[in-house]
Amino acid sequence: MTNTLVIVNNHVESIYEDRWEGDVVHYTGMGRTGDMNLHRAQNKTLNESPENGVSVHLFEVFKQQEYTYVGGVVRVAPAYQETQPDENGNDRHVWLFPLQLKSSRLPIVDQQAAKQAYEKKERQAGKLSDEKLLERARNAPSRIGIRPTISTQYSRSPYVAEYAKRRAKGVCELCQQPSPFKTNKGPYLESHHIEWLARGGEDTIENTVALCPNCHRKMHILDRKNDRETLKKASIKDD
Ligand SMILES: [Zn+2]
Ligand SMILES: [Zn+2]
Repeated sequence: MTNTLVIVNNHVESIYEDRWEGDVVHYTGMGRTGDMNLHRAQNKTLNESPENGVSVHLFEVFKQQEYTYVGGVVRVAPAYQETQPDENGNDRHVWLFPLQLKSSRLPIVDQQAAKQAYEKKERQAGKLSDEKLLERARNAPSRIGIRPTISTQYSRSPYVAEYAKRRAKGVCELCQQPSPFKTNKGPYLESHHIEWLARGGEDTIENTVALCPNCHRKMHILDRKNDRETLKKASIKDD
């Protein structure tokens, strides 16, 4: 189609996040290395789109190969330049296009997919040299974008959680250490499902344990089998 331009905000591939301000996205133009050219290819079409009769449609990617339609967009302010490092870490001039959504409703993002895309970038960041990391950290937008997300809320039983905490008697059911601090309700522990609800686990006292914040993080980050076995034994003891 000659009168349509499709642009993609790829949260998986791109090293930058296009910044949202309300219903306006500051979209980074095309060109992976070197200075971006405003007068070539897609950048030219996008730049001229208020006058050239081309309708612009924005998609975004949070999971490899999964394109979500965001909506029709219009360039509402002139394109402007910023200095950002390219793929190879060399400083270059990029063009940013302020594009406003026609529908004025930003699609709600699946929080899980957004989190996974972010975690992929965290892993990439972990592999950068100190020098490149500093460069990217310095060039990251200091004003971050905000957009609505949707997350799955589980209506877990407060009685099950409370039961697990009382059973633990102030001692973490994984490391067996006393809880690290007290609140006015007593020793602080967090309840955790051995088999995660997200993976079909049940909200029962046999599947719920009370953990110190460190062990709770550990379970969510490592989720080691031998730790799960320890917790299963703890959850059926002293019932
Ligand atoms: Zn612990
Ligand atoms: Zn948990």
